[in-house]
Amino acid sequence: MGKFVKCKYALLLMILLAWLGTSASQQKPGATVIINAQIADGTGKPLRKGSVRISGDRITQVGDFQPAKDEQVIDAKGLVLAPGFIDIHNHSTAGLESDPLAETQIAQGITTLVVGADGDSPWPIAPWLKAREANPASLNVAVMAGHATIREQVLGKDFKRVSTPAEVEKMVQLVDQGMREGAVGLSSGLEYEVGSYSATDEVVTMSAAAAKHSGFYMTHIRDEADKSFEALNEEIAIGERAHIPIEHSHIKLGTVGVWGKAPQYIQVIEAARKRGVDFLADCYPYDAWHSNLKVLVPDKQYENPQSVAKALADVGGGSHVTIVEFKPNPNYEGHTMDDLGRINSITPVEMFIRLVRESDAANVEPGIIGQSMTESDIKAFYQQPWVMVASDGGLGSRHPRGAGTFPRVLGVYVREKHWLTLPEAIRKMTSLPAKRLDWKDRGIVREGAFADLVLFNPETVIDRATFSDPFALPTGIEKVFVNGTLVWSSSKATGARPGRALGLPPTS
Ligand SMILES: [Zn+2]
Repeated sequence: MGKFVKCKYALLLMILLAWLGTSASQQKPGATVIINAQIADGTGKPLRKGSVRISGDRITQVGDFQPAKDEQVIDAKGLVLAPGFIDIHNHSTAGLESDPLAETQIAQGITTLVVGADGDSPWPIAPWLKAREANPASLNVAVMAGHATIREQVLGKDFKRVSTPAEVEKMVQLVDQGMREGAVGLSSGLEYEVGSYSATDEVVTMSAAAAKHSGFYMTHIRDEADKSFEALNEEIAIGERAHIPIEHSHIKLGTVGVWGKAPQYIQVIEAARKRGVDFLADCYPYDAWHSNLKVLVPDKQYENPQSVAKALADVGGGSHVTIVEFKPNPNYEGHTMDDLGRINSITPVEMFIRLVRESDAANVEPGIIGQSMTESDIKAFYQQPWVMVASDGGLGSRHPRGAGTFPRVLGVYVREKHWLTLPEAIRKMTSLPAKRLDWKDRGIVREGAFADLVLFNPETVIDRATFSDPFALPTGIEKVFVNGTLVWSSSKATGARPGRALGLPPTS
């Protein structure tokens, strides 16, 4: 009897387990259907009302259809459904490890970040991408190989000079390695310390190596101030000689001497495009930049009062320069150069030199914000069809662009100022960066594409980050999906981390 009972229970237990097993398999994530959305598909075509079905990591249907009975339904009445935003210039390289939820990024609708901009990238590439795969973020990430990073690998601390042909050959090998390991292109920052010593030929040769792997050349050009036009010509020459597509980083005219010259700048670019140069650019929606203290003085005479005086005058004076990060003396943070001079009873020029000395002594690079772009130039750039939206921000950015860029374009440039139509703004955030990256299955709402999607309210979407509160999250971004999984909903992260390391070769 006892034995029989045991058998009976064992049998019941087996049936129960079998039932749980099938029930678990039936509970595989089913399809989700978003209905009543105004779809901005990423191509720039007008909005159209419709439904979108997400199954697994893909979009499986777009059009006029009803959800099936067992499907999860999201009613998107009043909302716009767009492809997830691709931020081609993002500085979250270090931040993703400690902050993989990346709330300041997904809250903007960003679903893919490209890091490694301005010549500064993780190295080597493959281990970094593998670490992203092992500790995934809420959003996808791709990486550039950095020109300065590679230059330092070869020249070490002896980088303040032109490289020899043998050294360039070594750098080319490293570009080749980086591209094979999954980098999407080569980035440079020719205005910055390490990159600024390179000859044009060095950059051409390295870019040609990236072009062999179908990479593109993304650059913070040698000068964004008085010599903007010379730097632009060098950039175009690099593209033509290396036969490589160009991504011009954060297009701007950053000094008094070139303010208002966007039409002429655009003409030079248009002429190059007509000659067949594959030239695209990105622009962040702010009239102020964020960089390090020394970048302000192009002739690198940081302690020469005349050089510093010219540098401050060029950006419109010391009131246009704000210290945002100064580790040796955090009391400086939040003050302009004029303010600090007044507080210390010295001139703004003397104050600048004092800051250089204090930061050199502490071996740190202070962060500054320079308010030195004009709205008419920003508008002219934004209205070019070859200019996309990118943040130049990322996790931990002390510039509000780090948490505000994409909603700001939608709220300010589309809704308030009417500089752009909504579908065109979305194109600049999605299919245009995807085109630069040569990605066919992201940045677009169509059947078969990855389900990286954003639902936002076009009436309310707006940035809230400011220079004094740079991490404030935007409003109006209602839901964000990455690879078919909801990562942002009801004004908070869901905790899901479905992001992928893009570009990692399957064999590595
Ligand atoms: Zn830059």
